[in-house]
Amino acid sequence: MINPDRLLETFLSILRINSYYPQEDPVMEILANLLEPVGVELSYDEHRNMLGYWPGSGTLVNEEPILLCGHTDTVIPTEGMDPIVRDGAVHSDGSSVLGADDKAAVAAIVEAVLAIAEQDIAHPPAEVLFTVGEDVGHIGSRAFDVSPVRSKMAFIPDADGPVGGIMLAAPWAETSRVVFHGRAAHAGMEPENGRSAIAMASRAIGAMNLGRVDDETTSNIGTIAGGEAANVVPPRAELVWNTRSLSRKKYESISNNFLDCCQQAADALGGRIEFEPIRTIQGFRFEPESPIVRRAESAMKAAGVDSWQSVTCGGSDGNELNAKGLPTIVISVGYLDIHTNEESMPIDELNRLAEVCAALILDK
Ligand SMILES: [Zn+2]
Repeated sequence: MINPDRLLETFLSILRINSYYPQEDPVMEILANLLEPVGVELSYDEHRNMLGYWPGSGTLVNEEPILLCGHTDTVIPTEGMDPIVRDGAVHSDGSSVLGADDKAAVAAIVEAVLAIAEQDIAHPPAEVLFTVGEDVGHIGSRAFDVSPVRSKMAFIPDADGPVGGIMLAAPWAETSRVVFHGRAAHAGMEPENGRSAIAMASRAIGAMNLGRVDDETTSNIGTIAGGEAANVVPPRAELVWNTRSLSRKKYESISNNFLDCCQQAADALGGRIEFEPIRTIQGFRFEPESPIVRRAESAMKAAGVDSWQSVTCGGSDGNELNAKGLPTIVISVGYLDIHTNEESMPIDELNRLAEVCAALILDK
């Protein structure tokens, strides 16, 4: 169905653009130049996300659309990076990441639309969403207003693993800071008048369940800082904590437990705490038999790709769209070694992904 040469050309052309947030506009321009001529109606929000509506054709004009989404930024700047095609894959030149995360998805989505348009076959309407700033904290999707979206389900190719993967769940996550406030005193002359914030922090940590808490949950104290001098009872200490869980219940419970441990330690040692949530991410979980999962499976079957189900432990635009009430499934891209300078994208996987995107649009 798809045109592999055109797909590779689109992929290479957007890879060559350094689109670290907030510099995605030139990528959006290339996409717009490809999509507008086939009738995709584009609009941009104030955050520079691009939403496209492609009206259906023939007998399928009144079918319900689905939305395909990918992010146009990369994890670090790719200034001057010249992608290299070697041994059936696209590689970075070694100076930075390649940016197949998520430009392989972006190119595949565009090719799916172009291929269907070119073959002039009746197709249901479809929507595309290209976001900004995903890799620096889902900035675009978090700010995106879903009310203009007509689709009732969305698919985002942005997960590890060979093409065919369907991520049923992504974690609830939280990063928070707690500051313990004690009281300073001379540590040699009057330690009994001091209240050690470091002692509070260590007592709190000692009471916490850290690491791999269970098969769905992790918890980590990422940084700790505090104290002023060796001979001063430390009046201040702070912890930065991160948790992820594929279960909302377990997430809520570990989040409450973290705060309880901190509060109890401060109470016991005569101090107080200040709690500052830095970032929370809403997770999602779909049943293996739910309609959106079925839809993904049937598209993969139509594209001749074996589907497999898994969960992801990373966050993505999928978390944000689900949190906004648009049921969204994240599927695998086939990219390799992402977020490293060895990142590559096998070309046959790129082609398969575009076939899957086309099948997602056509399948109803
Ligand atoms: Zn990504």
